[in-house]
Amino acid sequence: MPIAIALHGGAGTILRSEMSPDKESRYTSALRIALEAAYHCLSKQGAALDAVEIAVKSLEDCSLFNAGKGSVFTADGTHEMDASIMDGRDRTAGAVSLVTGIKNPIHLARLVMEQSDHVLLAGAGAMKFALKMQCEMKDEAYFYDEYRYQQWQSIKDTDGFQLDHSAQNKKTPKNLGTVGAVACDIHGNIAAATSTGGMTNKRWGRIGDSSIIGAGTYANNRTCAVSCTGSGEYFLRGVVAYDVSCLMEYKNLSLQDAATKVV
Ligand code: ASP
Repeated sequence: MPIAIALHGGAGTILRSEMSPDKESRYTSALRIALEAAYHCLSKQGAALDAVEIAVKSLEDCSLFNAGKGSVFTADGTHEMDASIMDGRDRTAGAVSLVTGIKNPIHLARLVMEQSDHVLLAGAGAMKFALKMQCEMKDEAYFYDEYRYQQWQSIKDTDGFQLDHSAQNKKTPKNLGTVGAVACDIHGNIAAATSTGGMTNKRWGRIGDSSIIGAGTYANNRTCAVSCTGSGEYFLRGVVAYDVSCLMEYKNLSLQDAATKVV
């Protein structure tokens, strides 16, 4: 079976005018490092599930992306992260929402999948579970990023919230930067993983699609593996990742046709 890996660093638009050659090479090299680490795993006959976790962890450790270290600021000036992972072999899945101070939320999601009887843990409960699992924690300074801070400052006193990276339209901001990966291993098993800091200036315990199995993440060996990025509210309403899989399973659509129809 041929191995495959695909990853993304968010759906936002970074304007050409804002992209210097240096910045561009930092983005591409961070993506390449994640890609190569995951590919290495797959080429050593590693599992798709391990490969997607490796890719997402690598991007979570890089402040350029809105996940883990580079997570955007909430309205309270904190970082609340969401992540999920799914194994296409048997559709087991794990997810966490609204976690803070966790170095790699995707790893915590995997622990939920493998070490608990649950699929999704959120907030204070998820943090207790992380403590029990001795998950690696980081202090606020680790998550501080001047660029993210300035993004937050620009909308902090408004009701607006925004995704990461936009064409700088402050009234209807569109900023994204979530990370995700899908992979197929040598045994033909597939997996998907997604991680995000959500949206800048988000309030009220807002949870997007990234930690919701079926909305932002889905994997099923019979169909496909999906990791979404974009305005989570739309992906939640459309149950997008599952919808793509369903069109393939029930209507025999190709992945391309299913994805095009849903999008
Ligand atoms: N989907 C993510 C969310 O709504 C944001 C993103 O993709 O950047 O939280």
